[in-house]
Amino acid sequence: MDKKTVTTAARKRVALVAHDNMKPELTTWAVQHKDKLVQHELMATGTTGNLLQQQLGVPVNALISGPLGGDQQLGGMIAEGKIDVLIFFWDPFEPMPHDPDIKALLRVAAVWNIPIACSVSSANFLISSPLFDEPFDKQIPDYDSYLKARL
Ligand code: PGA
Repeated sequence: MDKKTVTTAARKRVALVAHDNMKPELTTWAVQHKDKLVQHELMATGTTGNLLQQQLGVPVNALISGPLGGDQQLGGMIAEGKIDVLIFFWDPFEPMPHDPDIKALLRVAAVWNIPIACSVSSANFLISSPLFDEPFDKQIPDYDSYLKARL
């Protein structure tokens, strides 16, 4: 597939999701990095978002709860170019009844070349990168040329 270059703005739209057993790790991580995180736009699946809002004391755009469609909402937003970073602490020990949503979210994030962190250490790498607070260029699928080739 052809690619095109787009610039991600300095202020990121950061999506955060944690499965129930991982919520303490995510909230602890978010509180530790509050000063940096609050400079960006935060969104999350429903329960994660409401917890983060409580813990951080800043607005978090809480979508529908993950198992009720929130993961798919986030996936749709990634495909529309409305999310720049995904912090997704999925639970490696518990199969989820909504595993297809998890796979779909990780897949669409890879398709659109979104930086993803699925663990505390990878989230630390992301947030300590200078690119977290600066504009950066990335390659994404060029849908116009993809479509032209099919018509
Ligand atoms: P939740 O969803 O934030 O509403 O708990 C997370 C998930 O299971 O995807």
